[in-house]
Amino acid sequence: MNFTDLNLIESIAKALQEEGYTQPTPIQEKAIPSILKGRDLLGTAQTGTGKTAAFAIPILQNLTEKNIRNNQIKALILTPTRELAIQIEESFNAYGRHLRLRNLVVFGGVKQGAQEAALKKGVDILVATPGRLLDFISQGIISLKNLEIFVLDEADRMLDMGFVHDVKRVVKLLPPKRQTLFFSATFPKEIQDLANSMLTNPVRVEV
Ligand code: AMP
Repeated sequence: MNFTDLNLIESIAKALQEEGYTQPTPIQEKAIPSILKGRDLLGTAQTGTGKTAAFAIPILQNLTEKNIRNNQIKALILTPTRELAIQIEESFNAYGRHLRLRNLVVFGGVKQGAQEAALKKGVDILVATPGRLLDFISQGIISLKNLEIFVLDEADRMLDMGFVHDVKRVVKLLPPKRQTLFFSATFPKEIQDLANSMLTNPVRVEV
């Protein structure tokens, strides 16, 4: 399969070409068509498989096609570490470089001033770690009422790092009518239960 078989819009196809991507990885091939259709997804995938592009590309495309330019948060990617958060935001920047969507990353361990100023300018796609996200929500700086797509990345690491309660608190604040993409490398019972609690009739993708 080639990227051209995935019916991507020209501005994304061009960005992928500029990145030097010629073929989708297996998870991209399996996940992108379902995410474009708006389905929930349960993905078993490790870092290094091309997982980030598997969700970032269809999110960019879906939001671009909807063409809602309100600069409210419409996609949220929750990830356990600052390093992962930064990498994910860089991917959105790269694949979305010919689009007009605004991406931002927020994480803890640094003063919140610069992140707060960027949030106030308006953001379409937010990548966040759980603690800092909840801080901003409790201060009324972030609202998730316009959210359409929620991605939980590395769910098993969230659990290992003790973030499961934070994740559950975030999920309670999301609109019930939304698309949810859930990724984990492993599926112990607690992760399966968490996935079941937040997904509706998901497509399952394993790589
Ligand atoms: P990830 O699993 O999302 O951390 O991605 C692993 C690496 O693979 C990243 O450096 C990506 O830039 C790269 N990558 C993702 N998709 C492709 C692709 N289709 N072709 C070539 N490289 C890719």
